[in-house]
Amino acid sequence: MSAFDAPTVIRIKRDGGVLPDAAIDWVIDAYTRGEVADEQMSALLMAIFLRGMTTPEIARWTAAMVDSGERLNFTDLRRHGKPLALVDKHSTGGVGDKITIPLVPVVMACGGAVPQAAGRGLGHTGGTLDKLESIPGFTAEISKERIRQQLCDIGAAIFAAGELAPADRKIYALRDVTATTESLPLIASSVMSKKIAEGAGALVLDTKVGSGAFLKTEEESRELARTMVDLGAAHGLATRALLTDMSTPLGRAVGNAVEVAESLEVLAGGGPADVVELTLALAAEMLDAAGLDGVDPAQTLRDGSAMDAFRELVAAQGGEITGALPAGPHSETISAPRDGTMESIDAMAVGLAVWRLGAGRSRPGERVQSGAGIYIHRRVGESVSAGEPLFTLYTETPERFGPALAELDGGWAVGDTAPTPRPLIIDRITSGD
Ligand code: URA
Repeated sequence: MSAFDAPTVIRIKRDGGVLPDAAIDWVIDAYTRGEVADEQMSALLMAIFLRGMTTPEIARWTAAMVDSGERLNFTDLRRHGKPLALVDKHSTGGVGDKITIPLVPVVMACGGAVPQAAGRGLGHTGGTLDKLESIPGFTAEISKERIRQQLCDIGAAIFAAGELAPADRKIYALRDVTATTESLPLIASSVMSKKIAEGAGALVLDTKVGSGAFLKTEEESRELARTMVDLGAAHGLATRALLTDMSTPLGRAVGNAVEVAESLEVLAGGGPADVVELTLALAAEMLDAAGLDGVDPAQTLRDGSAMDAFRELVAAQGGEITGALPAGPHSETISAPRDGTMESIDAMAVGLAVWRLGAGRSRPGERVQSGAGIYIHRRVGESVSAGEPLFTLYTETPERFGPALAELDGGWAVGDTAPTPRPLIIDRITSGD
């Protein structure tokens, strides 16, 4: 008989107590094995959401999640006779945040090796796997052997976490449908358990700040970044973080297939300036963390080598990019009510609208629509003329337009003054700080 039971563990946290290490180890293990029920874990997650966790509790919770599954190790692999320059990146979640899609091929083309355990959509934010699966044939459910082979042959694999931190897989899906995503301990442990288990030699975090981030204030995001950098260090994973602006969507496309299409523009040497800037800044951090000097990530976008790397990656995982990726068959356009300047576009409003259009889930395991999304014709600071399109919404199910339009209502403004541009990259946090 176990020394713990779920109601006791829930009660400790509900009443603001500190969970003993053994209780954390037990509840994560018992939940992974199905002994603790979803409704019990939901109650515990809500208690953690409301009461928080101490730093030692977060460390123990993360370690228990790592121990819930296997830990990959690629240090024995060689490419062209040399050990792999293993490095990965993870974002804390944003709106229009398709950066992984151009970033991984840029790093591949510069000689890095990226073993990326990626996630599905969470709350109002999109997931890399949901986006990539809009490419016909692409699969993220690949075996460990295939991940190893791809790392040696082409320098990357983007995969569903599978048996890595299976506790996170279950908790992540539960948080998505129980309004418990926006919690520092739950985000930090979710991100870091997967990343510690996946076997990258170094990690760069993109910690989002602003209305479209899970944690809204710079102070909270800084604390999140610091917590994750320290968790990485404690597990021997060299981790650093950028704090980046997420008050307005990244790029012009938000959704699944539309974000892959925009990523292809970036890989072809074009695309929105902010997507290119963040891709190259994160690439520079990854290459530095992996010890790859003297390579210019921007050159890989100019000379087509990043695009070639992306095609290789997609082909290795069963996909094929033959032409335009299909946006949903139904569309609705919002037009400018007057002449002026786009003063603001709220990332949260756009993220929720895209989720309502069918790009995310409201029940566990629900199918997402690859064609659901929004195209932003006029971005913050751009001038607009009365009657011209500002946003086009796409979905497979037109009854979703009403709720999506309601989310967007009040989430953008056309006025007379151009807002002061915000820096995209706010700060950099490393383990020595
Ligand atoms: N990414 C994750 O893997 N987990 C979170 O909780 C948020 C972003």
